[in-house]
Amino acid sequence: MKIAVIGAGSAGLAALRHCASGEIDCEVVCYEKTDQIGGTWVYREETGVDKYGLPIHTSMYKNLRTNLPKEVMGYPDYPVPDAPESYLTRTQMLNFLNSYCDHFKLRQYIRILHNVELLEPSDGDRKWSIKVKDLQKNTVTKESFDAVMVCNGHYFEPSVPKIKGHETFQGRQMHSHDYRTSDIFADKVVLVIGAGPSGMDLALDISKKAKRVILSHHSRDPIGTVFPENVVQKPDVKELTENGAVFTDDSSELLDDVFYCTGYKYSFPFMDEKCGIRVDSNMVTPLWKHVVSTENTSLALIGLPYYVCAYSMFDLQVRFVLSFWSGRKEFPPKAEMLREEREELERKLKEGLGKRHFHLMGHQQGEYYTDLADTAGITPLPPVISKLHDESSMRFLDDLPHYREARYKIIDDYSFIRLE
Ligand SMILES: Cc1cc2nc3c(=O)[nH]c(=O)nc-3n(C[C@H](O)[C@H](O)[C@H](O)COP(=O)(O)OP(=O)(O)OC[C@H]3O[C@@H](n4cnc5c(N)ncnc54)[C@H](O)[C@@H]3O)c2cc1C
Repeated sequence: MKIAVIGAGSAGLAALRHCASGEIDCEVVCYEKTDQIGGTWVYREETGVDKYGLPIHTSMYKNLRTNLPKEVMGYPDYPVPDAPESYLTRTQMLNFLNSYCDHFKLRQYIRILHNVELLEPSDGDRKWSIKVKDLQKNTVTKESFDAVMVCNGHYFEPSVPKIKGHETFQGRQMHSHDYRTSDIFADKVVLVIGAGPSGMDLALDISKKAKRVILSHHSRDPIGTVFPENVVQKPDVKELTENGAVFTDDSSELLDDVFYCTGYKYSFPFMDEKCGIRVDSNMVTPLWKHVVSTENTSLALIGLPYYVCAYSMFDLQVRFVLSFWSGRKEFPPKAEMLREEREELERKLKEGLGKRHFHLMGHQQGEYYTDLADTAGITPLPPVISKLHDESSMRFLDDLPHYREARYKIIDDYSFIRLE
């Protein structure tokens, strides 16, 4: 069996680690369009396009520290090494990914500076054809595979709402994808739109340099955390004017900049329609258990769910997929897979989550992990990681400026302690 892995971020590395482990008899090739592994953890000052004319992939900013403790950020068989603190810098995380890559001797399978331009089924849907450009040699080749793991990330295609007046506003407007340092906002009045994890974090980062930060969001109640004095909260923006914004409570503010922290869209620019995968209101479908294409089960998309213990989940999803591709388990009939997806969507819609939140896991991540492990008969993830994820997320909301000072220790599969 010949398997292609598209992307060498933390998901692609997990895919390689298991494809190359000998657990399954296969040959594996990984294509990575940038010049190094690590995906979004690779910090680059440049924004826009790179020297090959490709959009900059990473959304990493200079001062980033992880929003989860390292105790839940490792892989199940390769934890993040011990360090005095729990919340690490981006450099520590990138070093960790490089050490994972070296430990499992994965570099030999990775073709860096190879951009996958097209993925399409071939040979009567029995194979996959990948058209790939060697960016250094400027040559394009086609290669054939039996199965494909798509690991191209989902924090690179900005989602920007069209707010009334966005063309009228004369100041700068930018998305968090292009944010690198707070210097650009020095002494400015900045409207931050969106209070997800990155909106809140970035409002805090910007507040250190900006004159004033106005954080606009649609949570019904004000966010409980203590922000610095120069951060104020406002409801949704009704309209942008030439030099400011009017909010839904009819208050208004004069602004220098508008900063969109409004998230990202799932995007697979290289996937031909014939692959059978579409993005419908930011729900990637049709997929069995958020990972396997129901149209052709030799196509898997690793890493779609969010608000998860990412690396552990990537590892689990890969092992899940390989237990079917190896023939150890058999896929259920397509109708059953589709029914499962439909029922999950109905459940989420009843819970008040729109299609666009279909891949949100949060409190349900533990259930998802158990389901994958039980279905494939593979080693489950320890419940303690979901518990610690929940604790960290709660403290993020309660005490944004200080929650990263906490240090954690995992005691066993079920329990952790906070050291201070
Ligand atoms: C600013 C920011 C902060 C974050 N902080 C945290 C955190 O603290 N904790 C946490 O758990 N998660 C965090 N995340 C989420 C993070 O994205 C995941 O943890 C994880 O790194 C995603 O890995 P990935 O491999 O799925 O995607 P990515 O890291 O995006 O990797 C995808 C790779 O695919 C390559 N690629 C894409 N298209 C092609 C193509 N056509 N051909 C070849 N190669 C291609 C890209 O170049 C890239 O290397 C953060 C995300 C962002 C954006």
